[in-house]
Amino acid sequence: MLIKGRPSATLKQMQKWAESKKATPLFIELAEVFYNLSIDVGVNPVIVYAQSAKETGYGRFGGVLNASYHNPCGLKTSTGGGDKDINAHMKFNNWIDGINAQIDHLALYAGLNGYPKADTTDPRHFPYLFGTAPTVEDLGGKWAGSLTYGTDIVKIMKDIEDTIVEEVVEIVEFIDIENHWAEEEIEFIVEKGELKGYNDNTFRPEQPLTRAEYCVLRARQLGFVKKKIIPKPDVIPYSIDHIPKSDKRPELAMDAISLTIHSTANPKSTAKNERAWLTNSSNTRVASYHIVVDDKEVIECLPLNEVAWHAGDGFYGKGNRKSISVEICESGDREKTLQNAAIIAAKILREQNISILNMKRHFDWSGKNCPRIFSANNWKEWYKFIERVKQAY
Ligand SMILES: [Zn+2]
Repeated sequence: MLIKGRPSATLKQMQKWAESKKATPLFIELAEVFYNLSIDVGVNPVIVYAQSAKETGYGRFGGVLNASYHNPCGLKTSTGGGDKDINAHMKFNNWIDGINAQIDHLALYAGLNGYPKADTTDPRHFPYLFGTAPTVEDLGGKWAGSLTYGTDIVKIMKDIEDTIVEEVVEIVEFIDIENHWAEEEIEFIVEKGELKGYNDNTFRPEQPLTRAEYCVLRARQLGFVKKKIIPKPDVIPYSIDHIPKSDKRPELAMDAISLTIHSTANPKSTAKNERAWLTNSSNTRVASYHIVVDDKEVIECLPLNEVAWHAGDGFYGKGNRKSISVEICESGDREKTLQNAAIIAAKILREQNISILNMKRHFDWSGKNCPRIFSANNWKEWYKFIERVKQAY
């Protein structure tokens, strides 16, 4: 079983399997994080989750570590030490750092392109490990002393892959069928499982052999009835009011590969206030942001192809250098604000050709509790917001 590769099971299978093993609620919730972070790198997430289940006893721990170490796989510090020595083990700041370390460590063993990485949370990212274990089975006697370590993980993986989830039809939202004449029929056909789109969330309705025509025909055959037309949400006023060149706007070119969501941490400040703050003479900080959104409007404060200092991950950080930032205002009608934020986030993802998997929180770059409006209950509201953005796509 190669470590590198596409998921060999779905997220739902991973979650349902974890439930069946009486995993802790946290371990079940983290399945989504394991899944998304692994896909980002190109490692099969089922391996990572299975390994973590083995190492943590389905999140129950009970060995030398506990959950506060945010250590999903018993990774040791760069100096290492005995298995029973708590100080020999890494304590990560948060689960994202811990899980990324595990994934990077696996990717290093597997010899993935781009490894060893200069920028990793993996404390034992030793270049000599590169490519020494392309398969899970190879990990035996390497990642751990036991020669059956890898085959044990493969058995757990098989268990996950064999988990039956009733609802297997995944609703895919295509990025290229909005307002297409066959949009509803395509969705209908796809929901019926008759046709699938492509991995990049396109349907390519105009491709030769016109699939769209086929969908309309099949939809009719299957008794398709046109749904009521649901009015599109109002167009939000979008104004461009760029700040002049300054510390906050260094005019560094940027080709964004991700979108970062923030909230302002100020319950009174509107989008206009946030924009004005950037050019207020008493604001001597260099921090800046591209877009602010409230319940009434959107203001673009910096061009989306230039760097803003918003991510707290350093001068060369990927958050600062490769990510468009959206500040969600905490003032006004929250529901309307979130709806506007979802619409504008979806618009950016679409126009900049950024995957929804690359919509990040400020938290993901620096560990800061931001966007704080989503952080309660282990970021429950964040996952709801992701769904909202998918809806608005
Ligand atoms: Zn922030």
